[in-house]
Amino acid sequence: MKIANIKTAATTGHGMHLWVKVETDAGITGIGECVHGGVQAIAIIDYLKERLIGADPFAIDAHFEGLRRGHVFDGGMSGALITALTGIEIALWDLKGKALKVPIYELLGGKFRDRIRVYADCEVNPGMDFGQITQVVDGVLERGFTAFKIDVDGGSAKNKDAFNKTASEWEHDRMVRLVEMAHRAAGEEIAVGVDVHTNLDVPSAVRLARDLEQFHVMWLEEPVPPENYDAMREVKRSSSTPICSGENLYLRHGFRDLIEKQAVDIIMPDIPKCGGLSECRKIANLAELYYIPFAPHNVASPIGTLASAHTCATIPNFLIIEFHWLQRDYWTTIIQEKEDIIKDGYIHLSDRPGIGVELDEEVGRQYQYPGTSWFA
Ligand code: MG
Repeated sequence: MKIANIKTAATTGHGMHLWVKVETDAGITGIGECVHGGVQAIAIIDYLKERLIGADPFAIDAHFEGLRRGHVFDGGMSGALITALTGIEIALWDLKGKALKVPIYELLGGKFRDRIRVYADCEVNPGMDFGQITQVVDGVLERGFTAFKIDVDGGSAKNKDAFNKTASEWEHDRMVRLVEMAHRAAGEEIAVGVDVHTNLDVPSAVRLARDLEQFHVMWLEEPVPPENYDAMREVKRSSSTPICSGENLYLRHGFRDLIEKQAVDIIMPDIPKCGGLSECRKIANLAELYYIPFAPHNVASPIGTLASAHTCATIPNFLIIEFHWLQRDYWTTIIQEKEDIIKDGYIHLSDRPGIGVELDEEVGRQYQYPGTSWFA
């Protein structure tokens, strides 16, 4: 069997969802999804496909690493080139699973677990009162989630410009109050994650981490910008509040220092963005040497989410994966199966081959990203 063609399509959603279809001369196809690669990822895949047509679709890691090393001077360390390769990588896993009639997790070493715990990213924002927060939290809990995440940054800020990361007294109090209200609305059994999207400096983050200790949050996410691991470690070592980071890093190489310096308590690679199923399994294995849990960031559709779940099944240190689709309308309709892959807060892995669900192209096309072509 040889790769015959690679085609792309893109839909709107959390930014752009880029679909990659790998076709073979045997008539078997695989579908992959990647996110946050931008329109440049489409051009990169179009360029890379010429190097893959005629190749063995089963040599997935070799293709990924060969193309990455071959383009290391063109961005093969991080960014859109890696995300483009990730979309191809996931499609190749789907294809290989279908060709061998096994789920991807069987090809990655087999399962540690049958069900994958999911948390909901929800719209609790600065400015909400307790009644509004309770309404959002009740909606999340009614769907069976055992954990959710809130954004405590954003909103109006006093005495601050767009580039300043020092939290004022007023902002600090607002962040703590918001967590207190979410924690109270959720109850003791529900885990609450807190995201500040890189928006604090070290002293502001340390103060927040310490004042959140009383609420036993699931984690405080990206308290400071992700690129300085020493600064992140300062925050991590300052309190018992777990610190989580990694959604803006790529490859094992991007995670190596973060993990080896033990600069975070939890890592959160975005699997359909930062290197794909095989690379993220290796990142998780590296983290496991330091007993660091793996909690993937995820904004993908059901296809990218379920693909990520296959990796989550095959590592011991999986903690929880994100669901970022509460406010969007085609979560269940964009797949041919027309079902919610999350039931009572968990993804239950099936024994269907490949990823296990198929893109409904007719529905997808209704959300076609402006200016892109559709599997042309
Ligand atoms: Mg985040």
